[in-house]
Amino acid sequence: MTRPHVVIIGSGFGGLFAAQALAKAPVDVTLVSRTASHLFQPLLYQVATGILSTGEIAPATRDILAKQENATVLLSEVTSINLTSRVVVAEKLAKTTVLKYDHLIVAAGAGQSYFGNDQFATFAPGMKTIDDALELRARIFGALEMAELTESENERRSLLTFVVVGAGPTGVEMAGQIAELTHHTLRKSFKRIDTASARVILLDGANAVLAPFGPRLSAAAQKVLENAGVEVRLGALVTNVDAGGLDVKFADGSTERITATCKVWAAGVQASPLGRTLAEQSGAELDRAGRIAVLPDLTLPGHPEVFVLGDMISLDKLPGVAQVAIQGGRYAAKKIAGEVTGHPVTEPFKYVDKGSMAVISRFGAITKMGRIELTGFIAWAAWLFVHILYVVGFKHRVTTLLHWVIAFIGSSRSERVTTEQQLVGRLAVQQLGADFQPTIGGTLHPGKITGD
Ligand SMILES: Cc1cc2nc3c(=O)[nH]c(=O)nc-3n(C[C@H](O)[C@H](O)[C@H](O)COP(=O)(O)OP(=O)(O)OC[C@H]3O[C@@H](n4cnc5c(N)ncnc54)[C@H](O)[C@@H]3O)c2cc1C
Repeated sequence: MTRPHVVIIGSGFGGLFAAQALAKAPVDVTLVSRTASHLFQPLLYQVATGILSTGEIAPATRDILAKQENATVLLSEVTSINLTSRVVVAEKLAKTTVLKYDHLIVAAGAGQSYFGNDQFATFAPGMKTIDDALELRARIFGALEMAELTESENERRSLLTFVVVGAGPTGVEMAGQIAELTHHTLRKSFKRIDTASARVILLDGANAVLAPFGPRLSAAAQKVLENAGVEVRLGALVTNVDAGGLDVKFADGSTERITATCKVWAAGVQASPLGRTLAEQSGAELDRAGRIAVLPDLTLPGHPEVFVLGDMISLDKLPGVAQVAIQGGRYAAKKIAGEVTGHPVTEPFKYVDKGSMAVISRFGAITKMGRIELTGFIAWAAWLFVHILYVVGFKHRVTTLLHWVIAFIGSSRSERVTTEQQLVGRLAVQQLGADFQPTIGGTLHPGKITGD
């Protein structure tokens, strides 16, 4: 007898934890993802700033699920979902895969949003993928190398100005780390420039950094950032980004041009476009960030067999954090297992807030767990403990710890390899245009491909 087929889209927190939670259920699971790894996004900034290697935060999904007999992992990008015929179509390198499902879990996450100004992306990469982190690594360390080379004082000043847009956890962590790098870690590495003279500017349109943490922790975070040498500029709306810098409009109506070569965009998210496909077919609503309104049991209206999780959903103002995706994945798996074994789960999804934390500087962090608010070293130690727990695999935990010892106690960065491809790859592919369809086994020409 054939067993029910569960198709899971995405190998992030929602998708992976759902697959693992189905290990003992009498179902066959196919996890299809456009990346071959499970990405631990909260540590991307440490790849960008030379602390961790990519392998530590992105282990191969098929290795994680290798011992799970009912799970198959496919590398492919889902391009369409048909809710009526219960079919998912995925494409990779001109290979089309068609998957029929009995139950579907969609956990395709979110991308960067430039709030309608996608042209900013050319000059200010976001921070969502391994590609983004490696490009940023190349841009940050590359700016310092170019500053060492240039004879022009103006150019040097621009190369030694780093601007991070968005004072949420990602922006705060990035700005804190760039300040740490330039003001301390790399000071003795360069001979012609003083990296400590670098300006690190953090911009946000709101009036507080890390606003969701509440006023006390927000103020504490701002103080730690400023002590670390970050210029925090709030009420600052970015109106333009180009190769030479940014234009900013402040809450009091004043405007300013900031000259900076290296810009990082850490503001705004846009849910996966698969949300729109699902909304059009089910009648569910989408919010401005493209998140789909799911029912309290995380299913689509009229489709109890389709679950949507994590960053793709809007439900009870749940935040876009890893725990929402993890707990959603486990809940969807429990519902499916209950249904196929004749023990239906009737309770709605209930999110348990386990708290949130952000690292700001070496040994400086903020942590909020219910009413408990921690700052300083204790918060940093709590951050260290929790993150090491969630890094997947014993070997990765050991090497991550080792890299943290090197970076935080030894004050050095061992993962600083950058390549020209990392620096220009994204923009080069964009310039090749829509005709560019890479394929393995064929002959590649810009904009034209022959072979299979
Ligand atoms: C830089 C950064 C820092 C963060 N820091 C924190 C933090 O400190 N704490 C916290 O709790 N949260 C943090 N978050 C948020 C957290 O990472 C997300 O909430 C979480 O990853 C959401 O899980 P998800 O499963 O919904 O999506 P994701 O983890 O993004 O996974 C989406 C998956 O879907 C795949 N996919 C996308 N489109 C397709 C497609 N068409 N076909 C096939 N596969 C597809 C992707 O490859 C990926 O595997 C951070 C996020 C970022 C970007």
